[in-house]
Amino acid sequence: MELDQQRKPRRTKIIFTIGPSTDSEEMLEKLMSEYYVDICRINMAHANHDYVRTVARRIHQIGEKLQRPISIMMDVKGPEIRTGDVDSPIVLKMDEIFDFTIKPVSTNSEEIRSVTINYPNLVNDIEVGSIVLVDNGLIQFEVLEKNADRIRCKVTIPGELTSRRHINLPGVKISLPAITEKDKADTLVGIEEGIDLFALSFVREENDLTILRNFLDENDGHNARIIAKIEDQTAISNLDSIIQEADGLMVARGDLGIECPFETLPIIQHQAVKTCLTHGKPVIIATHMLESMISNPMPTRAEVSDVAIAVEEEADCVMLSGETTIGKYPIECVDALTKISKTIDQHGKKFSFAKELILTNDKARIQRTAVSMANELEAVAILCFTRSGSMARGVSAQRPSTSPIFAFTNSVDTVRQLRLHHGVIPFQMIFCTEPEATVARSMKILVKRGYLKQGDKIVLVSDILASDRVIDSVQLRTVD
Ligand code: PEP
Repeated sequence: MELDQQRKPRRTKIIFTIGPSTDSEEMLEKLMSEYYVDICRINMAHANHDYVRTVARRIHQIGEKLQRPISIMMDVKGPEIRTGDVDSPIVLKMDEIFDFTIKPVSTNSEEIRSVTINYPNLVNDIEVGSIVLVDNGLIQFEVLEKNADRIRCKVTIPGELTSRRHINLPGVKISLPAITEKDKADTLVGIEEGIDLFALSFVREENDLTILRNFLDENDGHNARIIAKIEDQTAISNLDSIIQEADGLMVARGDLGIECPFETLPIIQHQAVKTCLTHGKPVIIATHMLESMISNPMPTRAEVSDVAIAVEEEADCVMLSGETTIGKYPIECVDALTKISKTIDQHGKKFSFAKELILTNDKARIQRTAVSMANELEAVAILCFTRSGSMARGVSAQRPSTSPIFAFTNSVDTVRQLRLHHGVIPFQMIFCTEPEATVARSMKILVKRGYLKQGDKIVLVSDILASDRVIDSVQLRTVD
């Protein structure tokens, strides 16, 4: 990589979902060492436990070999309503009357066709007039009537119904548990394999996150951080409290675009990013970022603009799904995200939501001072020293206007966790007893890697520089 490019590292982080297109050792090594991906997502809607163990170990080994560990995020499926099995595809016609039943129906005198659903309480949750969307909205129904055993509907968008299709119910408050038995079993494997982040699907309220937090705590998963995936209208209504409870948020635009009118998606995304930045929480923009690149080597112009908006909003991460699981061009996708985010980061107009960040303590005020200083002085970088990562997270939350944040920590867990945060480039380093020696060592590393050169102005922020006591300090330094 050219020096100039390295001196301006990409500040928007990239999450890629692993699958057949990216799970080989060769491809992972390339993505991690040449394209600087930050987080690997394992989607438990598709992965089994053997797969989790194999790819997690592979990623950890490659990270160790490259001395560039990345983070792994397990995307836990959460509550999901599905149709049951059908013997052969059912071709549904416009205006046809169709039943969703609690139990299989053996005889059907009225000649009304039907399919079972995996959620008996649906008949209580749903109202006459509600909309039922099947298979990502490809087939649509309107509820005409219901009784204890079935929901009778009219087909409003016809299509072909196959087995075990996903059901969305826009605006319906579902009383399913936040985490299922499958989610628990998956999470236990994730804890065993040292997964850093758990993303919980279909979070509806803050208590859903507390349930997962308690489960992690009871099973030795204290270090893991929790990402709330917002996917429906209930989550939007509880956005503020969900963000406060979560360690981060994912704007899961796939399901959101089905559960909410699609034209409201840009408003929801904007509101979600703004609320996260107000509370200093990281936010991920997910789904359909570069969908056309599943089969084409170049993004559409509309996709370029979509990614640019996420960068201008200063979201922490952008996420790839099908593009890197089954897509033909995973490398080109990561490269495209890097090009767009670097260019827009340098030349685009930012929304500056971080100006609204609520400063809750003196640490946050010190971090703001460091960031203001870096902005005023146009510092090449901000350096921070942090054991748990909280100092680096706090500086990132203030969104320095151009300076990357080089975070030095003695913990490899912290290195991996910090990959989530906007602008933070984490390094593992043993801290010296003499604070000045720690600073000198970190600068040497950055000069050697081409990030800094002699004469560069940098801002240094730390709360752990003294061995016998904690001293908060913000300093201006020049690289010698
Ligand atoms: C989404 O719906 O945008 C999403 C990321 O969720 P999943 O891919 O798990 O359905």
